[in-house]
Amino acid sequence: MKQATKFIHAGAEPDPSTGAIMTPIYQTSTYVQEAPGKNKGYEYARSQNPTRKALEDALAIIENGKYGLAFSSGVGATDAVIKLLSPGDEVIAASDMYGGTYRMFTKIFEKFGIKFLSVDTTDVSNVASAITSKTKLVWLETPTNPLMNITDIAAVAAITKQKKILLAVDNTFASPCLQNPLDLGADIVMHSSTKYLGGHSDVIQGALIMNDAALREQLYFIQKSCGAVPGPMDCFLVLRGIKTLHVRMKQHCENGKIIANWLRNHPKIAKVYWPGFEDHPGYAVAKKQMSDFGGMLSFTLEDDSVENAMRVLSSTKLFALAESLGGVESLINHPASMTHASIPREERIKNGLTDSLIRLSIGIEDAEDLAEDLKQAIG
Ligand SMILES: *Cc1c(COP(=O)(O)O)cnc(C)c1O
Repeated sequence: MKQATKFIHAGAEPDPSTGAIMTPIYQTSTYVQEAPGKNKGYEYARSQNPTRKALEDALAIIENGKYGLAFSSGVGATDAVIKLLSPGDEVIAASDMYGGTYRMFTKIFEKFGIKFLSVDTTDVSNVASAITSKTKLVWLETPTNPLMNITDIAAVAAITKQKKILLAVDNTFASPCLQNPLDLGADIVMHSSTKYLGGHSDVIQGALIMNDAALREQLYFIQKSCGAVPGPMDCFLVLRGIKTLHVRMKQHCENGKIIANWLRNHPKIAKVYWPGFEDHPGYAVAKKQMSDFGGMLSFTLEDDSVENAMRVLSSTKLFALAESLGGVESLINHPASMTHASIPREERIKNGLTDSLIRLSIGIEDAEDLAEDLKQAIG
């Protein structure tokens, strides 16, 4: 089935009790049993909920996976993956990644004896050489937040498969529309559904998708035991978001391309980070593993002072100054003080995330209006 059809029909069965075409919001905490242990497959809503079930089925379908699990947030989904591990285990993690993931790894899980190695995964040989007998998981993000670095998922998967190490990919930036890591050999795909899947900046949610039944059982056990489950209303919103993901992404990509090129030609812009440029170091890999380049980009100004960046950040009218991304409306963000403030400055600078870097989430408004807004803000 083609993507457009799949995204609209994924997980959608008419409600068995009424025929409602939209999955109802099953706002219930428990289910009445006929006799002890005799039930309709639903016992308690932390473990099962029909709205969540419809969403989890949809998540699996859109990522070309067998199983989906929905969590109360993206970090809740990541947390469940790390709980597969034990003290003494090692994780190889991409050196440029979402600040909240970095914070969880270093501030929460290191004290439980799990070791995280920060590795530049854009050079796959760095992954191979960081592996030890204790390595249990490789955590990738591609494209990365906010520097748009690209890692070759299939090349890393070839290494992890041979060494029997789990490979998890945070696919939030690309969305299942542009990239499907399971097809490239990953074991687990993670999403912050808050972003492109929801798509309307009105919900916090996360997702995991996998093919292996035993891995699904382990992650489901963690999901119900630790309880980071989304409510039915939020599941309904993400289900609704998925139906238009492909049309939204098309426009995000088109606008992203226009704005990336517009910025690159602007005399007051120093550097634009966008994987669709042929001279981007990850261009060839991005072209191979993604169907388009997405709507996220970052840039620096010729006048590289923090004051100048702050001035631009406070001057846009259409681009709203806010954390998050992937909604229909355009956002502007200052990673150093906002989304990535939890990464120590030294570590940030080492990875190229300077104090004056500006990140844009390009929405699906008219691209000319977006360029006009940036023009007046850059001045
Ligand atoms: C937002 C984000 C997360 C965290 O997801 P939440 O839904 O905010 O918990 C993880 N990874 C990336 C790339 C993100 O952008």
